[in-house]
Amino acid sequence: MPITLRNTALKGKEAWRINLATMHRQCPICNKKKGNCHFPTQLHLNPPCLECKHAWKPSGKKYNGTALKVIHGKMPIRLLGIRYNMWLDSTAQRRYVMDEITEMACFLRKHRDLSIENSLRLIECTLAPLLAFSGPVIIWPEKEFKRLTAAFVRCNKEAWQMSPNTSTALFTFPKDRGGLQIKMPRAMI
Ligand SMILES: [Zn+2]
Repeated sequence: MPITLRNTALKGKEAWRINLATMHRQCPICNKKKGNCHFPTQLHLNPPCLECKHAWKPSGKKYNGTALKVIHGKMPIRLLGIRYNMWLDSTAQRRYVMDEITEMACFLRKHRDLSIENSLRLIECTLAPLLAFSGPVIIWPEKEFKRLTAAFVRCNKEAWQMSPNTSTALFTFPKDRGGLQIKMPRAMI
């Protein structure tokens, strides 16, 4: 193996190890950062944080003779298509919406052979229902909502085949001031 290739392979291995280490520093249930005292053991490679470990969980529940699976209350579950946990924390759903919008922006960037009309139609068909369905039910903190709006505008720029540096005012300004006036997330929700 040539030296440069071996170096990149080593670098990849190192990055992978660092990635794994940060992953193990996160609690697998609530995704919060764990303290340094949670060592991995042979039984548990990635033990949950103390709070999750000692939280009360029902046990021994059976239905028709089969033991029911119990999950921790902090773990997000999908109910009617919306990801929530028992503490009414909707981080998982917000992450899901943001991921979908980012994925759409990447898709539009990659498929420049789509016509602008088709791209806009695609956004209208996928992103609007995604926001309209879960948006009113979950809580969007101001900071994350700004990020959502930015991602949404970015997606529209990709659909219009514009560079990401194009002025956002083009989309947000009212029509009589020369804006395109697209439907923003706030209007959809
Ligand atoms: Zn935890």
